[in-house]
Amino acid sequence: VPLKPGRSLMDWIRLTKSGKDLTGLKGRLIEVTEEELAKHSKKDDCWICIRGLVYNVTSYMEYHPGGDDELMRAAGTDGTDLFDQVHRWVNYESMLKECLVGRMALKPVAATTETCCTLPEEKKLLNGMLPKNKVLDTSSKDLTPRETHAQLTLNVLLEVPHYDWFQTDHLVTVVIYTKQKGMNSEMVIVDHQDGRLRVDSILRDYSYLLHIELSYAVQEDIAVHIAEKVGKVEIVLKKKDNIPWSKLGQPLESHSSFIKCTDRGLCYRRCKLISKTEVTHDTKLFCLMLPRSTHLQVPVGHHVYLKQIIAGTEIVKPYTPVSCSLKSDFKEPSHHDSTHLILMIKIYPNGLFTPELDHLQIGDYISVSNSEGSFKKSQVQTLEDLFLLAAGTGFTPMVKLLNYVLTNVCSLRTVKLMFFNKTEDDILWRNQLEQLALKDKRFEVQFILSEPKKEGTGKQGKISSSLLSEFVKRSKKDSKILICVCGPAPFTEQGIQFLQDLGYSKEEVHSFTA
Ligand code: FAD
Ligand code: NAD
Repeated sequence: VPLKPGRSLMDWIRLTKSGKDLTGLKGRLIEVTEEELAKHSKKDDCWICIRGLVYNVTSYMEYHPGGDDELMRAAGTDGTDLFDQVHRWVNYESMLKECLVGRMALKPVAATTETCCTLPEEKKLLNGMLPKNKVLDTSSKDLTPRETHAQLTLNVLLEVPHYDWFQTDHLVTVVIYTKQKGMNSEMVIVDHQDGRLRVDSILRDYSYLLHIELSYAVQEDIAVHIAEKVGKVEIVLKKKDNIPWSKLGQPLESHSSFIKCTDRGLCYRRCKLISKTEVTHDTKLFCLMLPRSTHLQVPVGHHVYLKQIIAGTEIVKPYTPVSCSLKSDFKEPSHHDSTHLILMIKIYPNGLFTPELDHLQIGDYISVSNSEGSFKKSQVQTLEDLFLLAAGTGFTPMVKLLNYVLTNVCSLRTVKLMFFNKTEDDILWRNQLEQLALKDKRFEVQFILSEPKKEGTGKQGKISSSLLSEFVKRSKKDSKILICVCGPAPFTEQGIQFLQDLGYSKEEVHSFTA
């Protein structure tokens, strides 16, 4: 929502640094009971609990980008679920640290005898996955090469992935048996830093984490091999010293846990800025190099989070990696795609995050998270017509998507992009889009300008029902279509509403959001 002047995130950061007592407790931390929390449920006295910590958000009301009414939905209660639904990635711990009132008081709980084997039926039916945050602790077996038959049987029953390792004189190979068909290298994220190995395997909406302090040093370059049909993941480490290892190492936090991806915190690694090139007057391509010991491939339509410390507060914002160009001869992801991330970012002179990003020099580092997103390649596998509605930098998810479908989707007959911008100078990769349309007869692009500088340069206007009804037309009766929408929130919301009114089903419309 539009905020009052002087109520930007930067203004909030300034207020938190001013020394003002924002909790009303003069720096004291207290234990808060549910009854006490419920008493603070008014706009001028509002406490909210997130993940067991209670914050007095009364002063933050006017600064909340979603407006005070949104914040009031959680007033006097546990707002964790609401927070996670809307913006799980926002670093509230850092932004609200001066508002911390204390911890929720623990309620005495009746002793429970529940164990893995006595889980109630509905919990077992979670496809073998343990309930939220419940860690399957396999650490007793995990650091020796073999596991017991009993453990294996339990894991197979529960369909929880497991792992093993073996070694030669020069190599240590860690093998993860995910038992998930169709595993690919985008579903495995590997980081090795300061002797710590972290492997996150994404299985549908769940994450299996291997997190180990290795017994001995290994070299920087790590190889990842995946046997797609059986879901076996191999991580090959090169020993620095060719000595036999008796153990793989020591388990670290959340090692061998199998939980919902949304319950796993974001993991960051430092990436080096390699180049910065102009796309338009205000938008640049930032090329970031991943550490050699990281394996991270961002799937089509997914985004990552960048993290910077601005005025002493950690700020996190999402960005969608693009390919280095629109290629009509795009085949497999290039080697570059697995070692670099390319981001197309618009710099807002009055923005909080992007001016800082623009100040980065070549060779500087920035923290980049694992990727997230709801788009699935299966949505386009047998597609016949694809329609893309992009506004401004909402074009970014369309880049990899275009490259992917034009190369990999045999059934595709038409791809049409309607690209909304303020002026002709704002159009991203106009030349490349026009070239692509000339080269590939399936592809068509239309530019719609909301504030054209000259008369007669393409269509004028904003997203509307009449524009969409003219643009979205099946190439044949009952053809399988998908319409993707991305841009400023009001643009996306209006687009979805117009499409719904025009009779398109939920499955036929995808919007890119965080
Ligand atoms: P902000 O501080 O957010 O300000 C942006 C502009 O809005 C400024 O002009 C500011 O003055 C104005 N403004 C801010 N708050 C208000 C307010 N309350 N009322 C009125 N005006 C206000 N961006 C890209 O460039 N490339 C991408 O690939 C990309 N991918 C994204 C992916 C996802 C899933 C999402 C959700 C967003 C993505 N974005 C992308 C947007 C990006 O995350 C940031 O929002 C953007 O870079 C702005 O950041 P900022 O902090 O510099 O600007
Ligand atoms: P912009 O302000 O330059 O506007 C581009 C066009 O969007 C305008 O010409 C207009 O046609 C349309 N538009 C803008 N405001 C509108 C409104 N209120 N109602 C209807 N149409 C409107 O755009 P920008 O500065 O490049 O911003 C791009 C937006 O896309 C940002 O909000 C960013 O967060 C979002 N984005 C989202 C993702 C994602 O994956 N979800 C990815 C990239 C960008």
